[in-house]
Amino acid sequence: MAERKRLVACNWKMNGLRADGVALGRDIAARAREPHRCELLVCPPATLLVLVGEALGDSGVALGGQDCHTEPKGACTGGVSAEMLKDAGCSHVIVGHSERRHACGETDADVRAKTLAAWRAGLVAIVCVGETRVEREAGLAKSVVEAQLTGSLPDAANPENLVIAYEPVWAIGTGLTPTMADIADMHAAIRTRIPSETRILYGGSVNPKNAAEILALEEVDGALVGGASLKPEDLWAITQAAG
Ligand code: PEP
Repeated sequence: MAERKRLVACNWKMNGLRADGVALGRDIAARAREPHRCELLVCPPATLLVLVGEALGDSGVALGGQDCHTEPKGACTGGVSAEMLKDAGCSHVIVGHSERRHACGETDADVRAKTLAAWRAGLVAIVCVGETRVEREAGLAKSVVEAQLTGSLPDAANPENLVIAYEPVWAIGTGLTPTMADIADMHAAIRTRIPSETRILYGGSVNPKNAAEILALEEVDGALVGGASLKPEDLWAITQAAG
């Protein structure tokens, strides 16, 4: 089986104006020119995609969107299509992030349609799944994630067009993380449901202190990093742990 190269994906969320986005992009690009053994992906807000893409230049760091519309173009005020992301220089797009599933009411069917839109535009879809605290405490974590995978993943998924991000909702931005055993257990369960060689990232309060332990787990192929990805020192420490 081919080695699954580690991926550290940065989700800047709704953070960054032009000056700080460019500065952060340049900082990440400069570090990425130093030896490292994982792939890096930066997902800035839509307004910064082109500028950050220019700042990343030829560093090898990939650019991604944080969401996309299902349609390629048309009457959707405020929408950003997968084709627009591609045109802005993206190779990836995050779909089904819990902040969109929960705050914007996105369903598995919506996530599936967005994944198909990403593929139509030639983008790799990073499909996020994860349980809430209530669901975990009720012993439903695995069944919730399995249902999300069933509902969100189109049939044509393969290791070139899909990355899964397991992100427990209660761990995102809270400083809380599951136990290592729980992360390993969930990743092993996800592995049985997706094409082999497809990467599975862990996301949820990854930081320089916990990265090495999380990234050493067998089916963890990288990290989706929110808050820590806005701090270059922290991001680089996580990247080194991934290598
Ligand atoms: C995220 O936004 O996907 C995320 C994992 O955030 P944080 O690392 O801040 O928990």
